[in-house]
Amino acid sequence: MTAFLQERKNQILTKGKDSFELEGGKPSIAGSVSQRACVFCGSRVVLYPIADALHLVHGPIGCAAYTWDIRGAMSSGPELHRSSFSTDLREKHVIFGGEKQLYRALHELTDKYRPEAAFVYSTCIVGVIGDDVRSVCKRVAAEKNIPVIPVMAEGFQGTKKDGYKIACDAMASLIGTDDSKEVSPQSINILGDFNLAGELWILAGYYKRIGVQILASITGDGRVKDVRNAHRASLNVVQCSGSMIHLAKTMKEKYGIPFIKVSYFGIEDMSDALYEVAKFFGDETMMNKTREVVKDELSRLLPALEPYKKALQGKIAAIYVGGAFKAISLVKALRLIGIKTMIAGTQTGNTEDYKLLKTICDDGCILVDDSNPIELSEFVKQTGANLFIGGVKERPIAYKLGIGFCDHNHERKLALAGYEGMLNFAREVYETVTSPVWKLKTTHSHLLATHVNSALR
Ligand code: SF4
Repeated sequence: MTAFLQERKNQILTKGKDSFELEGGKPSIAGSVSQRACVFCGSRVVLYPIADALHLVHGPIGCAAYTWDIRGAMSSGPELHRSSFSTDLREKHVIFGGEKQLYRALHELTDKYRPEAAFVYSTCIVGVIGDDVRSVCKRVAAEKNIPVIPVMAEGFQGTKKDGYKIACDAMASLIGTDDSKEVSPQSINILGDFNLAGELWILAGYYKRIGVQILASITGDGRVKDVRNAHRASLNVVQCSGSMIHLAKTMKEKYGIPFIKVSYFGIEDMSDALYEVAKFFGDETMMNKTREVVKDELSRLLPALEPYKKALQGKIAAIYVGGAFKAISLVKALRLIGIKTMIAGTQTGNTEDYKLLKTICDDGCILVDDSNPIELSEFVKQTGANLFIGGVKERPIAYKLGIGFCDHNHERKLALAGYEGMLNFAREVYETVTSPVWKLKTTHSHLLATHVNSALR
């Protein structure tokens, strides 16, 4: 293909053809129109699901509007996270500073909503004008007697992944500040599940059945008190390692809490996650319960997947998602329902992640880091993919090319984690790939061509 920028040549490879290692973690190249979001957005998506905290975006209204209700992160209680508060900085604040505006906004909002903590996000313009966000937060924290945490995530200072790290550091400042929760000896923190479409509740059901307490969920259905107590768990179970591995490493260093990396997507990875947790506790009763849960779930799920597998046999998928762990799980889950992945890319994978992704992909699969719409469209045409799995920015690419699309990003409203999620996923893929609408696409193009031809005559 000729459509990609030469500076990106080490970020695209075809398995079985190219012998170099795919490079990840690089800043986006100007002109590439990357699908990545900014640093601020990275921090916002990680912290957003903490439902009893105030999330105040210090910046122009656009930054807050762009990330308003950005995840389908559900809460079993308060829903303060779903409001997008902003200091609405204007020209006069850019000239004279926005600290007073921030101070007033924090006072007004904490009085009105009585949050358990406040996160204050610094955006590009705040970094440029040099507001002292930290000192305003410190002052309001003392006056209101709640943690007020500055999230110094100016959009220009790196990639979305840097925003994840900044969010992890913000959470680390809360962890270890309370000891009042009751903790079982078999307790875990879940890191990196965001309770999209209620997925955390599915997982919580499995953990309950094997006798494990979830001390803190960071951050899906998150609560400030749970985060403050998280240093007392025995194990950190990290999903979406791209966003949360930094916090897991910090907690290991500071509190000696070990961590394991898991994925809750697909049969294999979901079962492995439960087995790994049971193995960690070294408790035979827990291991037996885990075997029962897996057996019980599979006895229902496998027969239910059969019709979808038959209908989807031989179809081709393109994957472009946020993190590499999700891509790896997707390749395996698609294989289980008869679909071959021929494009696998991510926004935030690193070189090591791509080595792992490459080992599980088939020969001929195109692997790509930090891609853009032109490249992705070209790859779809080249491979003849019938299905695109991505997020809100990839949806139009799929529909313009006239192929099925499955939303696997943080805006989605369908639970895809766990055994129930696998069945939802198979159904969703089946419905989109076999939709009769794609037949009309050919007819429509044909009609359009006929109209154009007759107009030209
Ligand atoms: S790049 Fe800067 S201005 Fe744009 S949304 Fe991110 S923080 Fe706001």
